[in-house]
Amino acid sequence: MISKLAAAALAVAGSAGGPIPPAVAKITVVATTPDLGSIAREIGGDAIDVKTLAKPTEDPHFVDAKPSHIVTLNRADMLIEGGAELEIGWLPPLLESARNDKIAPGTPGLVVASQGIRMLEVPATLDRSRGDVHALGNPHFLVDPLDAKIVAAQIAAHLSEVQPQSAPLFKSNLAKFNTTVDAKMIEWQKELAPFRGAKVVTYHNDFVYLAERFGFQVEETLEPKPGIAPSAAHLAKVIEKMKAENAHVILVQPYQNRKTAETVARQTDGVVVDVSQQPGALKNTATYFDLMDTLVRTLAAAFAEKK
Ligand SMILES: [Zn+2]
Repeated sequence: MISKLAAAALAVAGSAGGPIPPAVAKITVVATTPDLGSIAREIGGDAIDVKTLAKPTEDPHFVDAKPSHIVTLNRADMLIEGGAELEIGWLPPLLESARNDKIAPGTPGLVVASQGIRMLEVPATLDRSRGDVHALGNPHFLVDPLDAKIVAAQIAAHLSEVQPQSAPLFKSNLAKFNTTVDAKMIEWQKELAPFRGAKVVTYHNDFVYLAERFGFQVEETLEPKPGIAPSAAHLAKVIEKMKAENAHVILVQPYQNRKTAETVARQTDGVVVDVSQQPGALKNTATYFDLMDTLVRTLAAAFAEKK
């Protein structure tokens, strides 16, 4: 990798009129989760180098913190986090050990994605006493493509501050990202339109933004509260409600307890559907757009099967 000093020297050489274009060092961007990393790649292109802390198959609330994460954070020029306490269970101690002023709060090097998002399910009073991990509202907003656009704009703005020479690139990549989202939205809306009002049950409360955007409804969650394991009493209530409300589709992500979902499905003529919000967890979902394509297609198929 080219050092900053060498890059500066090259930039000077380039500006002296030589044919070599000014070279700048790549911005090292660390994203807490793969969805944020994928959007960063769309915006930063070749000007950035993206590293992701959480694995695609890891629960973003409960990431296994490793010493290597400290090293990664220590070397970062920029950190992109989901915010709204998504990472509160594991990121703060890593940041403290990493001691990196470049990604401190209030600097261009820190992007808090939730800032600028219209958060859903913000509780009237802050209460973590019962273990609710959504104390500042629901932090799973990136499956709403319009929220992804907001986050992409934030990333472009911060990248441009960190490296003004590359601002035109970030601006054009953002425009391209937005154009793609707009075109895809028409496709996705069309695919899910026949299932307006359909009901799903999710393991964790992680699909409300998708449901709101595309007109379906999260009827129940297997967890009684976000982050609290399902109890027999709560599951009995869910089963009753699913029967009464004609809900048959249960969504589970790779790190959630599929067996619990299967037990509920058996008693409700339900189907357990494997989905992910993280690029790379399931087949053919390397990018944010591939992920959303798969998510929409999988949902439409499940709704059609259980219509
Ligand atoms: Zn959550």
